[in-house]
Formats: sequence, C-alpha cells, structure tokens
Amino acid sequence: MTSTTDTTTPATERMLIGGDWVDAASGETIDIITPTDRNRVIATTPRGAEEDVDRAVKAARAAFPGWSGTSFTVRQKALLAIADRLESEAEGLAQLTALDTGNALRTQARPEAQTLINLFRYFGGVAGEVKGVTLPAGDGELSYTRRQPLGVVAGILPWNSPLLIAGFKIPAALAAGNTIVIKAAEDAPLTIVRLAQICAEYLPAGVFNLVTGYGAEVGEAMTLHPDVDKVSFTGSTLVGRGVAAKAGQRLAHSSLELGGKSPSIVFPDYADSPDLIGQLIASTRFARQGQSCTAGSRLFLHEDCYDSVLERLVEAAAALKVGDPRDEASDIGCIINAKQYDRVQGYIDDGLSQEGVEVAYDGRPHLSVGEPGFYHAPMILSRVDNDWRIAQEEIFGPVLSVIPWKDVDEVVEMANGTHYGLAAFVFSKDLDAAITTANRIDSGWVQVNQGGGQLVGQSYGGMKTSGIGREASLEGMLEGFTQIKQINVKLH
Ligand code: NAD
Repeated sequence: MTSTTDTTTPATERMLIGGDWVDAASGETIDIITPTDRNRVIATTPRGAEEDVDRAVKAARAAFPGWSGTSFTVRQKALLAIADRLESEAEGLAQLTALDTGNALRTQARPEAQTLINLFRYFGGVAGEVKGVTLPAGDGELSYTRRQPLGVVAGILPWNSPLLIAGFKIPAALAAGNTIVIKAAEDAPLTIVRLAQICAEYLPAGVFNLVTGYGAEVGEAMTLHPDVDKVSFTGSTLVGRGVAAKAGQRLAHSSLELGGKSPSIVFPDYADSPDLIGQLIASTRFARQGQSCTAGSRLFLHEDCYDSVLERLVEAAAALKVGDPRDEASDIGCIINAKQYDRVQGYIDDGLSQEGVEVAYDGRPHLSVGEPGFYHAPMILSRVDNDWRIAQEEIFGPVLSVIPWKDVDEVVEMANGTHYGLAAFVFSKDLDAAITTANRIDSGWVQVNQGGGQLVGQSYGGMKTSGIGREASLEGMLEGFTQIKQINVKLH
C-alpha cells in the first residue's frame, strides 16, 4: 500500500471496498495537488463512479448484520483501539492535513487531528448508551423498545477540515451499529485515505468503505442508491439542498451540515476585556483562511466601542503570520485551490465597490508568500451594510465584515437577517443581556464570551438553511443514526 509521505513522488492511493484496496472500475484517476503549490501533484486517487459506489454499498450491506448484531462492547473496543492508534499517528495526520488542505499545522491541523481522536474515544465510550426503554404496561404485558441502527450510511465530506468532519460522522455511525461508505472530498482526500487505512486494521471487512471521486459522480450515486439508508452530508447549502431532495424522494434518512454567515455581537461593556480580541480573532477563523462553516464573518460592534475595538482587532490581524502551513511559525496557511481563491477575490471586489465601505485592514500587500501557493491575508471591511452581498453570502475566505449597532433589538434583527443559522458569538459582561441575546438568535450554536471550536460531545448543527439534524453528540448519535422499534409481548 502506498501513502502520501514521499515529498517528491506522487503516491497512488486506492479506495477501500469490502476490505480490499481497489482502483476505480474505470481505471481513471484524479490528480491531487497541494494548496501550497498549484503545480505539484502529491497523489492520485481513483475517480470512482456509480459502479464503484454500488460495490461499496453492497459490501457495507453484507457487513451490516454481523456488525449490528454484536454486543456494543465489540464496537466499543474497536473504536477505542482506533483512537489509540490515531493518537500514535497524530503528528503524521496533522502533517498530512497541512499538505492536503493548506490548514496551518500549529493553529489548525494538530487540533483537528486531536479532535478526531477525541471523537473516536467519545463515541467508543458512549456506545452502550444506544438503549431502549420499557413501558410499565402491567404484569401481563412486556412493552419495550430497541434502538436499532439505520443500516448503511453514506457519509459525504467537504475539503475544509476533513478529519474533523469525519470525526463527527464515522465513530457515531459505527458505535450505533451502522456500516458506512465514506466519500472524501476530491480537493482534499488524503487524510481520509489514511484514516481508512487505520480503521481497516481494526474493523471487519465492509464495515467501513471509502470511495473517492467527484460529487456529481460518486456523491450523487451514493445519494440515489436504493440500498443507502441514510445520507449524512456536510458541504455547501446549494449542494445539500439537492442531496436532501434526492434522498427525500426515495424516503431515505438524511442530515445536512451546511454553510453559515455567523454573527459576532460585541456589547460596549465587554470592549475592554483583555481576551476580547483573541476570542474575536478565533471566531473569524482567519487561522483557517476563513474556510470554516462556523466562521464569525459578520462582526457587530456597538457604536460606543466601534473604533477602539476595531483598532485593536486590526492590530491583532496584522500580527498573524501567513505562511507555509507546515511551518510551525505560520498562523494562517493556504486557501484550498484556485477556484476558491478567485471566488474570494470576487467578493472582495464586490465589497470594495459598495458606497460607504471602509477598508480597516488589507493584509494582501504585506504578504511575504504567494504563488505557486494559494496564500491570502485577512481583509477587514468596515461600515458594511448587513444587506450587501459580502454580509449575506458565505465567502469561505478570510474576509470580515464589520457592522455598527446601537440598539439590541436592531442588532438581533440584523444578526438574524440572513437565511443561515449555524453559529453565533455574543460578548457581554452582563450575563443576563448576553444570555437573553443568545436565546433570541436563530442559530444552532451560540457561544458567550468565547470564539473557539466545538467541544467533543456537544450538540452541533444548523438552523434555517445551515442544516437539518444533529449527529456529533450522544443525543445526536441517537437521533441521527438510530431508529426505534417498539415490541409488545403478551405474557401469560
Ligand atoms: P460542496 O457542497 O461543494 O461539496 C461537499 C461534498 O459534496 C464534496 O465531497 C463534494 O464532492 C460532494 N458533492 C458535490 N456535488 C454533489 C452532488 N451533486 N451530490 C452529492 N455530493 C456532492 O462543499 P465544499 O466546497 O466541499 O465545502 C465547503 C462548504 O461546506 C461550505 O459551504 C461550508 O460552510 C460547508 N461546511 C459545513 C460544515 C458544517 O458543519 N455545517 C462543515 C464544513 C463545511
């Protein structure tokens, strides 16, 4: 088996189907380039298609009775063993993440690898919580429920943080007794290939299958396959809408983790707090090049502290080092590819063309890295109108829109004035005001006085067009990967 460790020769990666490492039936492959160098092919993966998906789904179906029929302790043991193995390879996974996704090693890639490990351990730990209940229906009746797995799950992953998102799906689905077919994103599949290689050593053949390729070929075939019981999709709202419609058409289960345009609201009483700026920088996800669904990409600053907070924020953004994602010194790595880079420029041009916009910070002239990598410095646009495209559409780049506010009702209305509803951040020393505001925001996840990432085991998912369903917590596993069967027995 090859792996992407050699820095000069592209590795030939394969798909995992029914325990075998295979090429696409067509024999076709996709070149994988690194975001650090648009000219460098670091690996090839199979270009899977319908026939490959069909084989993977059949393998997952064949493995389902054995995997679901065993004691939870067997699944638990496997997940915990995988967690230990992942832990022993954490640094390698982080290095590969940096090369494959462009996410900087210190600020992003290592935490992503660690969260994956923690998620395998968490779901291994709660595997025995997939329990039913009994109804006190009297001595003549035994009335109980079983929580059963759904069957074959198709997991479709995006490129922005593949290991993290894989961690939200794979261990939860497996702990509940499902088997799974994973599709890695065509732009960043390599950490998922490595994850599959590790999982294959601890799981029976067919329990975990990996298919690589394009969305319109592999993803679509998974969504439409009649023997896929659930589609667990993470990606853009546009594609997710189509996935939900197609899965719904054949009455398959689906859950959708989609895009966001999340607000951060700063009350004036928090302006002088020493950790405000650090938390705001974290919330912008600048260190992930803004390529995060939960990025606080709209910052609402109260007029009374607008200039002072903005000045400190700009200072902090200017101090972030954009550089090779594998370099320990880099805070910010690379945007994923040329298409995404150009998309970000398009949004910046659109924002700059608006009347009244002010450029609070444009780091682009200060960049010391560039071609052939997709490097991009943060951009902070001030006095933005909440109705402009840069404040309404998900840019998925390091671009922050700063918007002034005076009145709480007005800022809540603006915060909710988007079709997205994934995350939000509220900063106030007055916890009454902060919590009341948090309660009024239509988002699946609101943080108060902090801007970091998800905690392992927390409920996570979107409202409105940011998604449907929860999977990443114990209750999410029960809701997202099991179904209830009621059994009533007449006793004599
Ligand atoms: P995308 O929607 O283009 O692709 C996501 C995945 O879907 C990829 O594997 C792709 O190959 C596949 N796909 C594409 N077309 C398909 C089709 N017709 N049928 C089935 N699958 C198809 O998204 P992306 O550009 O890879 O990722 C960025 C988006 O993902 C952003 O909008 C971001 O907000 C979102 N995202 C959301 C979360 C979350 O948890 N809510 C997390 C990460 C990323």
